Amino acid sequence: MNMAETLNFKHSLRGELKHDEPMSRHVSWRAGGTARQFYKPADLADLQAFLPTLPPQEEILFVGLGSNLLVRDGGFAGTVVLTTPMLSGLALDANDAQVLIAGAGAASPHVAKFAARHHLAGAEWLAGVPGTVGGALAMNAGCYGTETWEQVVHCTTIDRSGELHVRSKGDYDIGYRHVAARVAREEWFVSAHFRFLPGDAEVAQARIKELLAKRMASQPLDKPNAGSTFRNPLGDHAARLIESCGLKGFSIGGAQVSMKHANFIVNTGLASAADIEALIAHMQKTVRDRTGVELAREVKIVGTSK
Ligand SMILES: Cc1cc2nc3c(=O)[nH]c(=O)nc-3n(C[C@H](O)[C@H](O)[C@H](O)COP(=O)(O)OP(=O)(O)OC[C@H]3O[C@@H](n4cnc5c(N)ncnc54)[C@H](O)[C@@H]3O)c2cc1C
Repeated sequence: MNMAETLNFKHSLRGELKHDEPMSRHVSWRAGGTARQFYKPADLADLQAFLPTLPPQEEILFVGLGSNLLVRDGGFAGTVVLTTPMLSGLALDANDAQVLIAGAGAASPHVAKFAARHHLAGAEWLAGVPGTVGGALAMNAGCYGTETWEQVVHCTTIDRSGELHVRSKGDYDIGYRHVAARVAREEWFVSAHFRFLPGDAEVAQARIKELLAKRMASQPLDKPNAGSTFRNPLGDHAARLIESCGLKGFSIGGAQVSMKHANFIVNTGLASAADIEALIAHMQKTVRDRTGVELAREVKIVGTSK
């Protein structure tokens, strides 16, 4: 493709392209730096047209609702692709009403409610995970004894050339909040097929209400946060260890260990990504020094420091 063709091709894109986009607008911590380039595709076909326009060395980061993500204050030097709200379709499989097809940008709580409305059971837990299907696939999100990949039939990914691939569970190493492609490939999730059980809409809706109330009671949902900062170590809870070290309420700048849930870091107003990262390091060191346990971070941190 020559330069003129490249420009024409770029002009035919229908999505929204921005530069130096503050990522604090797109992550639930409401803190951190910018993305050098930021693309909100108009739809899947548009995303397929956009990705091949990027130089081969360009770093690409897919972002959903940013509920498990921090971009350092110096920013992310590559291209962020935002999957929500455009890649967020939900449908039942025409051949199997127990199979729900969700776009990567669909919010997990919407999947839970859609499944309940369509008399499917087993998706209720997703109501309390404030991310997207893409984020849930990338993180193997889970709670109350269920994890995302247990319910996946297969997923569809996209590569840099814009080509789509159908991938099965066998294509990934899947563990507790861990998913890695078995063969190193640069691909991102664009949709997934999930299998749920036949159920009763009212029962599922009541269960969603019950689980949300449980979360309201135990999590600091009134302040910007990114859920659990650390994974639970085998046989223990990160929150218990952090609390046992007297860290509840401890703060660095605008980042504070929540008084309500010790594994949550809240932004009390003006936290920088550096405040949050310094607090994470302090929590890890304190827990290591006092208990010997090494806490592994669950939240993803990208970009460079200022
Ligand atoms: C209040 C609160 C409660 C939470 N409770 C839970 C819980 O109970 N269980 C749990 O597991 N998590 C929980 N989380 C964490 C978070 O909601 C989940 O990890 C969620 O699945 C992340 O989705 P997201 O769209 O926000 O991902 P993002 O934060 O946008 O991204 C997270 C990671 O996934 C990658 N990613 C996102 N989309 C794609 C894609 N389409 N293709 C490839 N990679 C992608 C990103 O690059 C990044 O590395 C909670 C968070 C909050 C704020």
